[in-house]
Amino acid sequence: MRVLFIFLDGIGLGENDPEINPLARAKMPQVNELLDGRSLIKNSAPFYGEQATLLAIDPKVGVTGLPQSATGQGILVTGINIPAELGYHYGPKPNPEVAAFLEEGTLFSRFVKAGKKTTLLNAYPPRYFDGIDSGKRLYSSIPLAVTNAGLPLFRHEDLFAGRALSADFTGAGWRTILGFPDAPGMDPHQAGRKLAALAKEYDFSLFEYWASDYAGHKQQMETAVGLMEIFDEVLGGVLEEMVDERGKMKEDLLVVVTSDHGNMEDLSTRKHTNANVPALVIGDKAARKNFTHNMKDLTDIAPAIWRTVMG
Ligand SMILES: [Zn+2]
Repeated sequence: MRVLFIFLDGIGLGENDPEINPLARAKMPQVNELLDGRSLIKNSAPFYGEQATLLAIDPKVGVTGLPQSATGQGILVTGINIPAELGYHYGPKPNPEVAAFLEEGTLFSRFVKAGKKTTLLNAYPPRYFDGIDSGKRLYSSIPLAVTNAGLPLFRHEDLFAGRALSADFTGAGWRTILGFPDAPGMDPHQAGRKLAALAKEYDFSLFEYWASDYAGHKQQMETAVGLMEIFDEVLGGVLEEMVDERGKMKEDLLVVVTSDHGNMEDLSTRKHTNANVPALVIGDKAARKNFTHNMKDLTDIAPAIWRTVMG
């Protein structure tokens, strides 16, 4: 079965408190429908529904200190407890010790070796590659794992050709900030349909959404609420591509939404949190059951993706 992994940076399962938690404040009808009226908050997990499963999984993985992005994302693409191996959480970008874990044995390199089609669906702008080439910018863990597997990162040509998606889903950032006024624009629902359609061309694809962690660090409630409401509309578009005419889940795609650590769910702090993160799994019931079997922490995601794709 194909897997689409939607990675949301810095989203934990927090309290049902709209004063500090944008996920308790945002209008997210699609998530509510998937979870029988529940929101993406702590009290909602575990949940086993007709179309979706929600678990709370542990990003601390037995290591003291706040979970960080380089190690958290490293765990998600390797299944290795990198913080336990090193004795610390680390981020945002990988240091040489973390990077060593991403040289081989990631989901991307293993799927390539197994003859499976895999990709990172984000399109990156020219300034990103300029930063990498000049040494001013380091890859974060996920694109590092992708490039180490010998796979290309998508560029603006791919965005224009419809082979990749904008990191903000809609393309607004490309048209305003990145200097591509004629970049293709999509509303969030269309972006969701596009995301699912692209995912069906690959055995394993990943989409990385980093704006959520950024909004958490900036403690911007209105921005965070807006991001989550856009994400909910994206999810609606994804779902439309996943159900048949009778509203039953097709068996060709499993969607996994998870994170590397908490942050945005508690805007009373600009730091990451110790909260568990959501593992929201959408799709065929039997596939979800297999995917979430014995799932407890971040190290369980990569093996679950592997066995779902390999069958
Ligand atoms: Zn962060």
